[in-house]
Amino acid sequence: VNHYLERINSNEHLNALVEVYADEAKAKALEVDKKIKSGTSGRLAGMVVTLKDVLCHKDHKLSAGSKILEGFESQFNGTAVQRLIDEDAIIIGRNNCDEFAMGSSNENSAFGPTLNGADNSRVPGGSSGGSAVAVQAGMCLVSLGSDTGGSVRQPAAFCGIIGLKPTYSRISRHGLLAYASSFDCIGIFAKDTSDVAIVLEVISGEDEFDSTVSKAKVDSYSNGLNNSEKKLKIAYIKETLDSDGLNDEIRQNFNAQLTKLNSEGHKVEPVEFPLLDYILPTYYILTTAEASSNLSRFDGVRYGYRSKDASSLESMYKNTRSEGFGEEVKRRIMLGTFVLSASYYDAYYNKAQKVRRLIREASKSILSKHDFIITPTTPTTAFKIGEHQADPLAMYLADLYTVQASVAGLPAISVPSGHDSSGLPVGIQVIANDFEEAKLLSFSKYLM
Ligand code: GLN
Repeated sequence: VNHYLERINSNEHLNALVEVYADEAKAKALEVDKKIKSGTSGRLAGMVVTLKDVLCHKDHKLSAGSKILEGFESQFNGTAVQRLIDEDAIIIGRNNCDEFAMGSSNENSAFGPTLNGADNSRVPGGSSGGSAVAVQAGMCLVSLGSDTGGSVRQPAAFCGIIGLKPTYSRISRHGLLAYASSFDCIGIFAKDTSDVAIVLEVISGEDEFDSTVSKAKVDSYSNGLNNSEKKLKIAYIKETLDSDGLNDEIRQNFNAQLTKLNSEGHKVEPVEFPLLDYILPTYYILTTAEASSNLSRFDGVRYGYRSKDASSLESMYKNTRSEGFGEEVKRRIMLGTFVLSASYYDAYYNKAQKVRRLIREASKSILSKHDFIITPTTPTTAFKIGEHQADPLAMYLADLYTVQASVAGLPAISVPSGHDSSGLPVGIQVIANDFEEAKLLSFSKYLM
């Protein structure tokens, strides 16, 4: 704990943590130490972790990077958080993030941007940017983030670490602040696949507090990590390599990976995915719709911030929401309200639901004939702070390759794949079939 507290102090300028629990972590360390000596410690004994500011941690502040939750404290532990605690992990702090997990750069936070440790003039990616940088800069061993459309995988790629988004429903969402409930997944950041595996094993599985969580058996991910002798059949989507936004160096890096896998005896094949252009629009229609509904609970009555400037109930709602939410959150509430409105519901929301089904079926059909789909994680490396701030559409393109697995509900991971010529990290994404996290982690280990 002292080691990590030093790392936190010397990296304060990165703004990866909005709160540090120094005394509490030291006290827990002593407690865990005693348990280790008496042979009663849990599976994560002494593992130092940080939590994205969207995960409920009892009696600790929760603000989702937003002013609207000012002063709010969680009254319970989310299931994943409770399971970490039960296995003696030590929670050392709360990570900065984009407001309500909306963003790809961590610039939409009421606590200011997080800086990328690889180059401080660049973003770490988002929305779980603080969680990625905390691991990147060694402020903790593992962190939890949330991934709705890429928010764990994209920052992992920008920061040169591993980021896993499991199958939708693998990990309970109880105590994860809702952005788009049919997409939201808790995800895991680490530098080593074995740390991802053991944490996944601990936090996954059935939970009486989340009716959507899967009852499927939790594999022993950490024991299965070594058996990857097998020759694999791997698909890559031809259209991803043709997209205009794809940076040349990333294309070269990706092609080099394909060549390497081929030379090692795996079968790497191009496949077609004509729906590629529809993935981002589908994602943004459905997630904004769900967000507009989920965020209606922040009304100045039940949680956190309330405007002082109100003369009636209605002006209290209005002013609280106008003052409390940031620009990107408001944009999404308005977009979501629009696509759900009576006259546009069929044209947008309903249609997007149908396209979502097609995207899932097409992805599953590729995975019925291949072990994995691989793509670059992101079309570019980490961009400059402020570079896309004025252009939300340019920002949305950062998720071009990550949203497919989110729309389809499939597990996906970003694994480091070296650096570009200016030393910025590059990531490669691997997508697997539902609940194949064990296989995905073994292959990730092989790739590293
Ligand atoms: N950048 C994407 C968005 O803004 C993804 C966010 C996420 O996965 N939470 O919606």
